[in-house]
Amino acid sequence: MGDKIVCKFGGSSVANAGQIEKVREIVLADDKRCFVVVSAPGKDKSDSEKVTDHLFNIATDGQHFKSRGKAITAKESYDRVVGKYRTLVTDLDIEGDDIIEGLESDLTSHIKDKKRIDFFASRGEHYSAKIIARYYKKKGMDAVVMLPEDIGFLVSDRFGNAKVLPATHTNLKESLKDNRICIIPGYYGITLKGDIAVLSRGGSDLTGGEVAYAVDAACYENWTDTDGVYQVDPRLIPEASVIPELTYKEIRLLSSKGFNVFHFDAMVSCKNKNIPINVRNTNNPTAPGTMIVNSRTPKETAIGVARMDGIAYVYIEKDMIGETVGFTKELLEIFKDFGINTHHYPSDIDDITVIVDQQDLKGKADDLKNTLMTNLSPNFMEIRYDLSLLSPVGIGMKGTPGVMAAASSALFKENINIEIVDQGPAQISFHFGIMEKDADKGLKALYRSMLKG
Ligand code: ASP
Repeated sequence: MGDKIVCKFGGSSVANAGQIEKVREIVLADDKRCFVVVSAPGKDKSDSEKVTDHLFNIATDGQHFKSRGKAITAKESYDRVVGKYRTLVTDLDIEGDDIIEGLESDLTSHIKDKKRIDFFASRGEHYSAKIIARYYKKKGMDAVVMLPEDIGFLVSDRFGNAKVLPATHTNLKESLKDNRICIIPGYYGITLKGDIAVLSRGGSDLTGGEVAYAVDAACYENWTDTDGVYQVDPRLIPEASVIPELTYKEIRLLSSKGFNVFHFDAMVSCKNKNIPINVRNTNNPTAPGTMIVNSRTPKETAIGVARMDGIAYVYIEKDMIGETVGFTKELLEIFKDFGINTHHYPSDIDDITVIVDQQDLKGKADDLKNTLMTNLSPNFMEIRYDLSLLSPVGIGMKGTPGVMAAASSALFKENINIEIVDQGPAQISFHFGIMEKDADKGLKALYRSMLKG
C-alpha cells in the first residue's frame, strides 16, 4: 500500500468560492493528499438546486424539474449554471473566460438522446475540476486537471448508470503517476466507443473509490458536510454522537437502511484492498470523522440504529407452507416478475411475510395481489402499509445475550407494538417493524437504551 491519500469533495464542499478555499486549505494541510476528486457545485444560499439537477433539466428541455413539480425552465437552468461558474471565476479571481466559453459551447451542443443527458450531466464535475485546478495554480500550487476521458476512466455504455470497467484500474495506475496534485472530476467516465457516460447519482464517491484502489491509496478521505456517520439520524436526536470507527459490514447494514452518508458501491473497491475510508467534514476539518475499516475490536454492542420508513409487508397464510417444497421460491419469483425488491421474509410454519418498500407497490398492488391469489391460493392474504424498520447494528452484538431483550423492552416501555422482528443471521443486526407513527418515539427509546452514554 502506498502512502498517498485520495480525497473526494462533495457538492457542498465546492458550492462556492468560500468552500473551495476551505478545500484548498485541507489539501495543503497534508502533502499526502495528492488526488483530489471533485463533485459539481451543490446547493448553497444562492441556489436551492444542485448544478447537476440543472444540467439534467437543460438536457431534457425542462422535463427534469417539471416531473418533480418544480417550475424551473431549461433556459433558467442554463442561466443559473453559467451564472454559477461565472461567479466562481469572479470570486476566486482567476482567468476563466476560456472555461466559461467551453461550458457555454457544451451546453448548447446538439448531441442527441441518452448521450445528450449524460454529456450535459457530466459538465458540472468537468468544469468544477477545471476551475479548482486553475485556482490552485494561481495560489502557487502544483496542480493539474486529470479528466476521466484522458486518464482512461472507462465505463460501460449503460447511460445514466454506467459501471466502471475493470481496465480502468490499470489505466489510472499508469496515468496518475504524476507528482503534481491531480484534480479529477468525479461522476463520469468514457465508454469504449468514446462517449461520455455518468455513473449513478452521487457517483463522485465511486470515482474516488476507484482512484483509491488504482493508486493503492493509504486512505480514501470522503469530505462532506457532516462530522461523520452518526449513531442515529442527528436531525431527530441532536445529541447523537459520530461513530469513530466502524466496519464495512456495519456501514453496509446502516446504509442499506437509510444512512445516506456515502455511496455504498464506492466502498467495494476499498474494502477489497483494505483501504480505510475516512468520512470528514469540510466545514470542521479538525474533527477526526468516521473511519470505515475491515475489522475492529468492538467496545460496545450496538453501534448505531438505522431507520427506514415507508415500509409495507405482504402477509400470506396458507396451510402446509412449511411442508411445501419450493413455496418461497415461487412466492419470491412473483415479486421478481413485478420488479419489486424484497427486504426480509420472516416466516413460520403456515405463514410468511415479505417486506418491501411501499413505493415499489405503487400501481402494482392490485395486480400483485391477484397474481399471488391465483398462483399460490393462500387461505388469507393482506398488505399492510405505513411501517418503519428500526435496525440496531453492531458487531459487538454477536454472541452477546440480552441485546434484543433490552431493545424490545425499551419499545415495550413506550407501549410500542412490534409487528415484525427479524434477526440477521450474522447476529450483527436485527430489525423491528413498527408502525411509522411510532417510529420517532421508538428510535429515541432504542437510542437511550442501546447507544447513549
Ligand atoms: N454531481 C453528481 C450528483 O449530484 C454526482 C456527485 O455529486 O457525486 O449526483
